[in-house]
Amino acid sequence: MTALTPQLESLYDEILRRNPGEAEFHQAAREVLESLGPVLVARPEYATAKLVERLVEPERQVMFRVPWVDDSGTVRVNRGFRVEFNSALGPYKGGLRFHPSVNLGIIKFLGFEQIFKNALTGLGIGGGKGGSDFDPRGRSDAEVMRFCQSFMTELHRHLGEHTDVPAGDIGVGGREIGYLFGQYRRITNRWEAGVLTGKGTGWGGSQARAEATGYGNVLFTAEMLRHRGQDLEGLQVGVSGSGNVALYSIEKAQALGAHVLTASDSSGYVVDEKGIDVALLKQIKEVERGRISAYAERRGGAARFVAGGSVWDVPVDIALPSATQNELDENAALTLVRNGVKAVSEGANMPVTPKAVRVLQEAGVAFGPGKAANAGGVATSALEMRQNAGRVSWDFAQVEQELATIMRDIHRTCVETADRYGTPGDNVAGANIAGFERVAAAMLDQGVI
Ligand code: GLU
Repeated sequence: MTALTPQLESLYDEILRRNPGEAEFHQAAREVLESLGPVLVARPEYATAKLVERLVEPERQVMFRVPWVDDSGTVRVNRGFRVEFNSALGPYKGGLRFHPSVNLGIIKFLGFEQIFKNALTGLGIGGGKGGSDFDPRGRSDAEVMRFCQSFMTELHRHLGEHTDVPAGDIGVGGREIGYLFGQYRRITNRWEAGVLTGKGTGWGGSQARAEATGYGNVLFTAEMLRHRGQDLEGLQVGVSGSGNVALYSIEKAQALGAHVLTASDSSGYVVDEKGIDVALLKQIKEVERGRISAYAERRGGAARFVAGGSVWDVPVDIALPSATQNELDENAALTLVRNGVKAVSEGANMPVTPKAVRVLQEAGVAFGPGKAANAGGVATSALEMRQNAGRVSWDFAQVEQELATIMRDIHRTCVETADRYGTPGDNVAGANIAGFERVAAAMLDQGVI
């Protein structure tokens, strides 16, 4: 761990004391605090206004019971969350995660990251996150619908297009957003398009929203390479995960001439020397909702399935961790470096552990932190809100063009900010400081809130 200034160290102690057991939140907060020392020296008014102390305390945290009845008639009880972290720049914005691992600490880490990520997009959105420990895996459509209806029956009172605008994350895709929107519309009797993003493209959803996080991460990676006089053409790419982010990272990397070798899920990974067949992977994971071993079976001899193990053992030039938090640890980073990796960019939120980030940076590997690299998803959500507000819909090419511009701007902002603070090439510092500066300026203007 990097040392903190005495003030930030005592704030970190306070975070540990006030938020016991929330390991992921501690980790996310620590990483940001490690970047902020020089900013507070340069801007003492930020320290006086206790901006960081206010930032680490969510504006509002909602936890609620989500009762529902499964297909066999058994009553089930899950826990729902929405952490409305910061609204200085705009309505709370961030996804909902449905996964059995969800707890308050995970939602808080995600919400905290979202504040800085959303600020980096420059699109006027605050930070929030929510979800439930509900496990959609193995549940019928009817069960998922009843769960979503119960979840929204409670959550709706906290939402609104100018208040809080959820979207998807792990376990929440187009199907869930549809059910959630339907229930919101029924309860409120309002056709309020801008209250959720990631909607179906026939009823207010934006073109390219599904693609945006993965496409954006590949565009960010291409910018990092371009900055070093390189490009993606002909490079070997390793992707983890096989959800929305992974699928569209694979698709975009291939479109830019790279060779994508891997994908994974919680049961293991596949290596496909001929390059991942993204249409087949989509069919298995999104339509059939099956396991990744089926991909290797249906690919004949071209691909092999490895049960368990680490997808990062496969030698690649570029690694795009796109599964979940803390999936790429110090050992994996050492293996990647030994195998000559050139760039690692976070498609998921916080997939690379702090020790692994250190290993990569010390080895001179280009590193894209999720707050910057995967901001294309939420940025396109903000474009969806813009289209909804104007009652228009843009075509795919227009949204993709906007996304490319946004990713280039975010990369440039990270580079310029890191340069300004004397840490050239450190995109972690660049993203944390640039995101913080935007939120801090708004908070200062708006008084002690
Ligand atoms: N869950 C996504 C993220 O981590 C997207 C959030 C959104 O579109 O609001 O940024």
